[in-house]
Amino acid sequence: MTEEIKKIKERMGEDLLILAHHYQSDEIVSLADSVGDSLKLAKTAEANKRAKYIVFCGVHFMAETADILTDEGQRVFLPEHDAGCPMADMADRVSAERCLERLENEFGKDSVLPVTYVNSKAEIKAFCGRLGGTVVTSGNAPRILDWALKQNKLVLFLPDQNLGRNTCVDLGVKLENMAVYNQIHDELYYDCKKEDVRCVLWGGYCHVHHFITDETFQSMRKAHPDYKIIVHPECRYEIACAADGKGSTEYIINQVKNSPSGSKFIIGTEKNLVDRLIKNNPDKDILILDTNSKCRNMNKINTENLYETLLEIEAGNFTRQISVDRLIAKDAVKALDKMLELS
Ligand code: SF4
Repeated sequence: MTEEIKKIKERMGEDLLILAHHYQSDEIVSLADSVGDSLKLAKTAEANKRAKYIVFCGVHFMAETADILTDEGQRVFLPEHDAGCPMADMADRVSAERCLERLENEFGKDSVLPVTYVNSKAEIKAFCGRLGGTVVTSGNAPRILDWALKQNKLVLFLPDQNLGRNTCVDLGVKLENMAVYNQIHDELYYDCKKEDVRCVLWGGYCHVHHFITDETFQSMRKAHPDYKIIVHPECRYEIACAADGKGSTEYIINQVKNSPSGSKFIIGTEKNLVDRLIKNNPDKDILILDTNSKCRNMNKINTENLYETLLEIEAGNFTRQISVDRLIAKDAVKALDKMLELS
């Protein structure tokens, strides 16, 4: 199938662009024209005006973002429709509107500035765009949340409470001044006076990072005291604090790449990425923090469904196309453009 995919790539030439997220398997990465995090890939798609067909090997929200940023005539495809992101699915427009109403009742009309992680549905990006808010990536979250916190409003951060909490603490916000919104029960928790609440964290999380336990962390630390532990900021606050460093996927890759030969790392993030770091850095000693850190949804893309997608595209069958409603896209673009302007 890999050989067949290569032949189709040759036949389609510049009409086809295959993008793969860092968390994809090696076989998919080897077939991609570009590999990166979700935003880098969306920007690659946006910059490429020649490709008529963009196949996104990642999860649903990434293909949506690429569709929002590309031209009308370009079609974006996801090889497996079921490849969603459980964290992105923890926030939808209806519950975001309900949360907004609740916050405005409690804190006043027009008091809320919503900011969303790029790992979110298009309708959440549109919700933020409509209200003057923006989007962050794990890389630019400190800069953009710093801006948001200075806008004299209550910042509502969706959907990843861990990235929101870790970043806001780094920016000087005390834990007791952060509220948490439970989107399932429509409940708001905070432990300070109402006027001291600086931000509200949506109660979502990425299970791949959130479920790395303190026990796992401590046992790895004890077994390998001379290793530097670096983690993704989607990990819980306790893990992020205990680690020697934290940062985006690009940060993790660069930390390893730019370290001297013989360096020792324990990495707390998705397993496919860590396996590739091990393979690409044979002169360094790299371990994974938790062997359970695997994203099943990212792994739903395989050579079989990629091959089927390409065959369908060649035959003019576009059933795997991801198409964001134009009205949603219009507001989502406002939020994404603001992010690009701020970063
Ligand atoms: S790793 Fe986490 S954030 Fe990324 S797609 Fe999987 S569940 Fe979603």
